[in-house]
Amino acid sequence: MRAGEGSIVSSSVEEYGLFVNGKWVVPPGAGRFETINPTNREPVGSFVAARAADVTAAVEAAHKAFPAWRDLPAPRRGQFLRSAARILKERKAEIGRIVTREMGKVLPEGLGDVQEAIDFVEYMDGEGRRLLGETVPSELTSKFCLTVRQPKGVVACITPWNFPTAIPNWKIAAALISGNTVVFKPASNTARCAAEVVKVYEDAGLPPGVLNLVTGAGGTVGTALVEDPRVRAVSFTGGVETGRDVYVRGAQRLKMVHLELGGKNPQIVMDDANLPLALEGILFGAFGTSGQRCTATSRLILQAGIYDRFLEMLVRRLETFRVGDPLDPATDMGPVASADQERKILEYIEIGRREARLVRGGEKLTGGLYDRGFFVAPTIFETRHGTRISKEEIFGPVLSVIKVADYAEAVRVANDVDYGLSSSIYTRDVSRAFRAIEDLEAGITYINAPTIGAEIQLPFGGIKNTGNGGREAGTAAIEEFTEVKTVFVDYSDKLQKAQIDTA
Ligand code: NAD
Repeated sequence: MRAGEGSIVSSSVEEYGLFVNGKWVVPPGAGRFETINPTNREPVGSFVAARAADVTAAVEAAHKAFPAWRDLPAPRRGQFLRSAARILKERKAEIGRIVTREMGKVLPEGLGDVQEAIDFVEYMDGEGRRLLGETVPSELTSKFCLTVRQPKGVVACITPWNFPTAIPNWKIAAALISGNTVVFKPASNTARCAAEVVKVYEDAGLPPGVLNLVTGAGGTVGTALVEDPRVRAVSFTGGVETGRDVYVRGAQRLKMVHLELGGKNPQIVMDDANLPLALEGILFGAFGTSGQRCTATSRLILQAGIYDRFLEMLVRRLETFRVGDPLDPATDMGPVASADQERKILEYIEIGRREARLVRGGEKLTGGLYDRGFFVAPTIFETRHGTRISKEEIFGPVLSVIKVADYAEAVRVANDVDYGLSSSIYTRDVSRAFRAIEDLEAGITYINAPTIGAEIQLPFGGIKNTGNGGREAGTAAIEEFTEVKTVFVDYSDKLQKAQIDTA
């Protein structure tokens, strides 16, 4: 593809450059890294390991492009998003397969990842005709008061690998429609998906410098981005430790830093629940995307009256649950995303074996295709609340099942973790369902539905260690990427003093 001069041809795998000022470039002397397919370890793409100076060049391009992009009326900025959404639709099947090849989620989920991107980009196109401010009455006569939204400037979008086209678009489309220019830094193991996203915007005709891509190590590229004084805001999705580092560096420079971090999401099933429905919910919530969604269900909190029966239903249902090639339509769950992911999940399984009772799974799968990729069996532990596996984010197909006596204990257990992203309760008692909306400490609560399943037109985010108070998607997306300006227009032709001469 469009790799520029100085490209190092090291293998047969397709090579990608950085995308800076509207061109794919390979800075002379830059190193490279490859991404691999977690199903079989075959290479997917080769990418530039950017250095701090390469990041500076990308920020410079975004900085130069900012004034003209800011001055373009928002509905006209929206036209670029409309084109991007159309191109994403045309390429959905192709890009969805790339998501599955590079990240390992089953194909319907790979296509769903792209569909979520399409939905959000279309939604943000419409937002270009709103970007709502407020008009409010003045306390004085012949005076008009309003607010308008203005872009922040150059923003950094730093993203994880688990939704490798959806999450970047959540950030990029919202930032662009708001009038910002962007430097995008994706997770290294899904750099090909990131390049596909950027190609879509390139083909949509976005002016040079408005969107730039820098790939490479988080410690080098991410840090250089966060510390560059021309980057006015950072939108980060990833793990707590990285997020804390980004937050501290940003705070030292008084930047706006938006953090979307981890989760330890509970599904509560009460004695009166529709059990077959709750069973389908937990299968999808816990083992969809191999448990690697920030909203994945990692704790199943069961009331004592249905505990034995429901656990037996779950174990029996898993006998027909197929783990395998994510491109095969018969597969329910693919590999985990990387060797690092596999190692971390297996470490937690070892911890679980020491502190809890293993009910099912608990191993790396071996034999045939499994030997070539990173496959972990869907795993269930029976545990008391308070064990490490019941409190720490594992980010894999490992479910902790916890027995509780009643609703009060269920809520206490659900809330007693450091995170607060998603939560779910299955019950037929409408009063209890509404009580749970009040009681569950989480940014998202589902009633009679699993903890996963966000819709782009609603705010998304969490409390406690899941973030620092902001929300993405929905109308909140615009708040993340704009400053509010308050405007007073006095048409009285005299000096009027607020608070003083109105008595
Ligand atoms: P990660 O924190 O390892 O990496 C996230 C991004 O940060 C990557 O692009 C990485 O290269 C970059 N990075 C690494 N070090 C950096 C540094 N020092 N400065 C700046 N950037 C740096 O996370 P991950 O493994 O890619 O993703 C998994 C995590 O993301 C999980 O904890 C999951 O819960 C979370 N997540 C949260 C949400 C949400 O919306 N709350 C959504 C998806 C994933």
